[in-house]
Amino acid sequence: MNNTVLPYGVSDIKPIKEIEHCCPIIGCDTAIAVYPSRANPHNNESNYCVKHRIYCRKNTYIFKEKTDNLITDINLFKDIFGRQDSEKYDTGRIGYENSEDALSWNVFVTLQKAGELKAIPSLISGKPCEEEPELILWGYSLSDGSLVKELKCFRDKFEYSIQVKTEPDIILKTANEVFLIEAKFCSPNSRKDISVWRDKEIDGRTKKEYDSYKIRYKGLIGDVLNKGIIEGQDKFCSQLVRYALYAHNAYPSKNCYIVNLLPKKHKELDSIEGQFKPYLKKDTFKVITWEDIYGKLSDSKSKPGIVTLKRYLQRKTANFEKAFIIPIFAP
Ligand SMILES: [Zn+2]
Repeated sequence: MNNTVLPYGVSDIKPIKEIEHCCPIIGCDTAIAVYPSRANPHNNESNYCVKHRIYCRKNTYIFKEKTDNLITDINLFKDIFGRQDSEKYDTGRIGYENSEDALSWNVFVTLQKAGELKAIPSLISGKPCEEEPELILWGYSLSDGSLVKELKCFRDKFEYSIQVKTEPDIILKTANEVFLIEAKFCSPNSRKDISVWRDKEIDGRTKKEYDSYKIRYKGLIGDVLNKGIIEGQDKFCSQLVRYALYAHNAYPSKNCYIVNLLPKKHKELDSIEGQFKPYLKKDTFKVITWEDIYGKLSDSKSKPGIVTLKRYLQRKTANFEKAFIIPIFAP
């Protein structure tokens, strides 16, 4: 598959009731002997379709060549995230039908190439944006392929000894503003038990100091978060909390927005703002949808990347069903 061929879309996938132990692609009768479970996620010939180069799972599929799930700049992705020293936490799932990283790459890299990234800051802030923002994906600048120094400093200072470090999905930077975007597709926002927040004295458990958010980010917390609100909950939105702490530490002179990007069908679309906004001392939290972004794409036929991206979003599936509330137009 090359850059001009889209990943499978709604018109390629059989109705769900017809996909029982066989390849999900219309017209293919390859039988699938066993669906691997979450506990036993093997990918081998027993659940592989040679013709369509996908591993079949119950209600989803995975490309054998993971970059087949990307619609643009596959070599750039490999150059930055295929390197041995890449610090991106997880690139293994980029070939999954439900990968939010593949979706993020396809949308934001296409927008950058077309010079249309500036539509996103104005979508979030409601204010016009004249300049094309800098794009940073999973901490890496797309212009020079390196981990941005602000994130490296933050990790070295606060997260040196932990394995899963703060990794904002998408950062857009303009002269005066920074937008930190947590992209979700099928999975919920990450939450952790409040015992991970508290220090070990309060929790009474033998936890290492760096496990506790309260100890790890001590100096930052009071400036950014309403501690009492967080501590009154059984679970807290851990990933968004880390975005807010990072934004305050890394970009003290800029206007920062913390953004949750969701599909319209996402379970948390109507609830996340009410939950997370009270955590923050400053009113910087926004929720936007993938469908909102689609609505901002230009109608210019002279931008082939944008035409392809529109078609991709119209046809995109999640768990074999249409992912977005976007009408499909003929190509
Ligand atoms: Zn097949």
